[in-house]
Amino acid sequence: MNHSIKKMLRLIDPNLTILEITQEKINHQMTLVIKANLSPQPSPCKCCGANVIDDDGKFAVVKNGKKTVTVRLEAFNHLPMVMHLNKQRYVCKKCRHYWTAQSYFIRPHHAISEQVRFKMMDLLKEKVSLTFIAKQCQVSISTVIRVLRSFKPQLPKAKQLYLPKVLLVDEFRSHTSLEDKMSFICVDGETGKLLDVLPTRKLPYLKNYFQNAKNKEDVQFLVSDMNASYMQLIASHFPNAQLIIDRFHIVKHINQALNDCRVREMKGLIKEKKRSQAAKLKSNWRYILKKRANLDVTEYKSWRSFRQPKFPLLTEEMMVDRLLAFSPKLKLGYQYVHDLLEAFDNKDPDTFFEILKTLPDTLDEVLKEKLQNLINYEEGIRNALIYPYSNGKIEAKNTHIKTLKRVSYGFRSFVNMKLRLFLMNSLIESK
Ligand SMILES: [Zn+2]
Repeated sequence: MNHSIKKMLRLIDPNLTILEITQEKINHQMTLVIKANLSPQPSPCKCCGANVIDDDGKFAVVKNGKKTVTVRLEAFNHLPMVMHLNKQRYVCKKCRHYWTAQSYFIRPHHAISEQVRFKMMDLLKEKVSLTFIAKQCQVSISTVIRVLRSFKPQLPKAKQLYLPKVLLVDEFRSHTSLEDKMSFICVDGETGKLLDVLPTRKLPYLKNYFQNAKNKEDVQFLVSDMNASYMQLIASHFPNAQLIIDRFHIVKHINQALNDCRVREMKGLIKEKKRSQAAKLKSNWRYILKKRANLDVTEYKSWRSFRQPKFPLLTEEMMVDRLLAFSPKLKLGYQYVHDLLEAFDNKDPDTFFEILKTLPDTLDEVLKEKLQNLINYEEGIRNALIYPYSNGKIEAKNTHIKTLKRVSYGFRSFVNMKLRLFLMNSLIESK
């Protein structure tokens, strides 16, 4: 009987004896309580090496009472389960050394079984909150955090930093550091492997961090967004690296510039009491940003902003033309922005910069300034059009971070977040 119960609980210690199983209310919750003894035969003293029976035939190591501990086990058939375990105590008569019997399923001085600890470790790799893990394992959040923190020694040390050929860098909002709300992430551009996350993206910190890497000359490409500080990092730390501006950031920058121009023009229209035109520009912003080549020119439809019978049936392209007719400035901006985007799509850096450098003065001033900002990053943008590297692989990691943040309602500790990110990416092994 005893053996069968142990088999069911998957506790195979031969020195464990189950005495009784009862149901009790613990913290307002019905709980299975297993009473058990753990009493192996006395073993030689680890302190002085005395044998259990000394040379004179007398007992040197003897049993010395029991110590009862409560161990949290995994739930059994949806019922929380604990074990009141009487652990045998021993004393060595030679050196007065005392010790307690231990078993494989519970670490010394721990109150949770190894099974629960493994379950916690598995759950820590998933995109779930610490609160959820605590609930699933019937332990407190601080226990979960303690288990999480036990992985801290396995985090990569700055001194062991080994850099890849293609280094992707980016930042993300972590809200965990007091000095900087943006954190820094870097990923291997070829394998997509997470290299590290740092609590801040500030340049002095980054310089100090990368200073530790032994193979700085191996970095050939650094892919980043349009952040001037990374350009400085290349100059000072990566002698053989070329900057690549992430192509999605470039497109985003250009689209943003056009979108801002649309918003300004809308405000102008409202001042001129042309509210309905402004409203049409507002509700159809997507079509203005849609790639010109993708606009439909064949299907005639009635549009929400241009309903029949007041308006004739229009194709998507004709509808956009009507929108642009509301504002000559927007119309001009639209042309140049889409010319730029097309040159970018065609991977034609010469045309791209030709357009940028010869933007007319009639163009909306703010729009022009924003676009010409790109000229400062000419080399990085040209490289983006030549080489196949982008920050796409980092975006996957950022999605992990966002999901983690959402399920856990933000992070309080940067290290906790970093540990979970590394666990999730299987970069530290649970033992
Ligand atoms: Zn001893």
